[in-house]
Amino acid sequence: MKEIMPVNGQFVMMELPYSALGNVISAQTLCFHHGKHLKAYVDNLNKALPGSGFEGKSLKEIVCKSEGGMFNNAGQVLNHTMYFEQFSPILKPASAKLTSLIEKNFGSMDAFKKEFEQKGATLFGSGWVWLSVDRDGKLVITQHKNAENPVTMGLRPLLTFDVWEHAYYLDYQNRRADYLTALWQIVDWSVVESRLD
Ligand code: MN
Repeated sequence: MKEIMPVNGQFVMMELPYSALGNVISAQTLCFHHGKHLKAYVDNLNKALPGSGFEGKSLKEIVCKSEGGMFNNAGQVLNHTMYFEQFSPILKPASAKLTSLIEKNFGSMDAFKKEFEQKGATLFGSGWVWLSVDRDGKLVITQHKNAENPVTMGLRPLLTFDVWEHAYYLDYQNRRADYLTALWQIVDWSVVESRLD
């Protein structure tokens, strides 16, 4: 997993690698989700850093070792960075290597997507659904509440869908399942595959 380090003692908000995501996520949602929600998490994390003992540490280390407000903000910065980085308005299909890994673990790409959507749809309240690699190299789908990230369980996270209402309510209102189904259209599988190493 790519290490995210502070610059001059402060974490820098990631820039979106695109300006639009077709009809899947509107410009308005991107504007609020990235420009307001993520910005608030980055600002709050940076405010909490001085004197915390976490100065100069990587984001992953902070997520793995902190608790309370520090953990919530650091976790949300890590989660949203991985979420926004993994999308593209241009179709980036899974390579033969990644497809066969998913087929080996879930039977088929469709079976994987169905289970991932189902775990996202049934997560009660706010949180994230993740695809990760476990210590034995097996792919696992896990549900995480609030700001949690699978790195705290020793997993290597590959893909995540945000199921906090702020991620979809402007575009899909209460239809979380429709939002989850639509997201497959914009997943950049080359980014997902890069997280394997
Ligand atoms: Mn979010």
